[in-house]
Amino acid sequence: MLTFLRFNKKDDESIAYLREEQIEFDLKECDGDERAAQYSKSLCGETRNLLYVSENRVLLSPTPADIAKFVLQKDIEGERANYDLLIVGAGPAGMTTAIYAARGNLTVLMLEQMVIGGLMTKTDEIENYPGFEEPIGGYELAIRMKNQAERFGAQLFSGGADSVSLTHPIKIVQSGKREFFAYSVLVSVGTEPRKIGVPGEDEYYSRGVSYCATCDGPLYRDRNIAVVGGGDSALQEALFLAKFGKTVTIIHRRNEFRGEKLLQERVLAKSNIRFELNCTVEELIGNGDGIVAVKLHDKTTGKSKKLDCLGVFIFIGLLPKTAIKGFEVLKTDEQGFILTDTHTCTNVPGVFAAGDVRSGNFRQVATAVGDGAIASHAAEAYISSLVLPAFPY
Ligand code: NAP
Repeated sequence: MLTFLRFNKKDDESIAYLREEQIEFDLKECDGDERAAQYSKSLCGETRNLLYVSENRVLLSPTPADIAKFVLQKDIEGERANYDLLIVGAGPAGMTTAIYAARGNLTVLMLEQMVIGGLMTKTDEIENYPGFEEPIGGYELAIRMKNQAERFGAQLFSGGADSVSLTHPIKIVQSGKREFFAYSVLVSVGTEPRKIGVPGEDEYYSRGVSYCATCDGPLYRDRNIAVVGGGDSALQEALFLAKFGKTVTIIHRRNEFRGEKLLQERVLAKSNIRFELNCTVEELIGNGDGIVAVKLHDKTTGKSKKLDCLGVFIFIGLLPKTAIKGFEVLKTDEQGFILTDTHTCTNVPGVFAAGDVRSGNFRQVATAVGDGAIASHAAEAYISSLVLPAFPY
């Protein structure tokens, strides 16, 4: 028998829907009922109106659309709050997990605060993702992944997670005024660009300072551009910027690049790419309106020098985007990347991490996609073995 435990009268609409659909249920008014409160807390850590459907399905603060989905197995118009899996971050890892999990019949919601696709949408051309003989644009690949996930029934919510509660069998993710509930959560929030931390960097952000060549590169046609960094991102984006800029000068703090050999060969072969090696950035100099030069410290000579340029693109690595209330329960490495086992399981049961935010990952679209497939498999196994606290009535 379905049982509605009601602690407050908020869910009248759901009760009306149950009656309208002639679904038999027992309504228990639980204000002051300690046993009911304990049961709710053992599920999610809080006292919430809930609908007990079966020993493996409990809906928190159910909406009519939740009831339609989980009781009548049909979709109706309206907002849903309950899912099997919530995916925080719809980059390649999150969207792959959504494709696999939704195809495997889990109910899945992806939450994305920015543009779907994550960092790959900031890449003009991806040429090492298997299956595409010709390079594919990062944004186009993202749209294809999203469409594929939605084709299997995964849903997308435009909004990031503001806070999460992860340690109980039913996890809670809050985004603005909405709350979502699920048995499992995937953390695939990705990364954000590391800053150099020199004067002028914040002041001239988007007025000459950029962290995205695809977004801002075309603004610097026939101008002198500087790129800071020596990894794959710096080299790849320098090649892209060389299509627009009169010159592109790569500033790197060492004499050797960290980026892959093929990219090194390509930047060396480009006639308008120059190098300032063994140099660190001391200041980004502006004229009030925008950047006009970069002040460098040349470690070889020990002297400072100025490089004239109107745009500075910074690619000096990535930081995990894990500053979300409630993520503190997840174990991380020293840089804040989330620690998992080889199945993407974190230290908290039912919580998985995939893609760039996972510690030790080789950060590629292909590895994020691989992580996503593994995470979906792990989440399915977790949910099918999950034993919810026994219903006390
Ligand atoms: P990265 O590999 O961590 O390289 C960061 C670069 O910035 C390094 O050269 C580093 O110098 C330099 N750096 C770090 N802190 C600095 C500072 N405070 N001041 C000046 N320079 C600093 O980061 P990434 O290039 O953004 O790449 C991130 C991940 O994405 C990597 O796993 C990469 O392989 C992957 N990725 C792959 C592709 C591709 O396959 N085509 C494209 C883009 C990114 P040192 O070398 O001296 O440490």
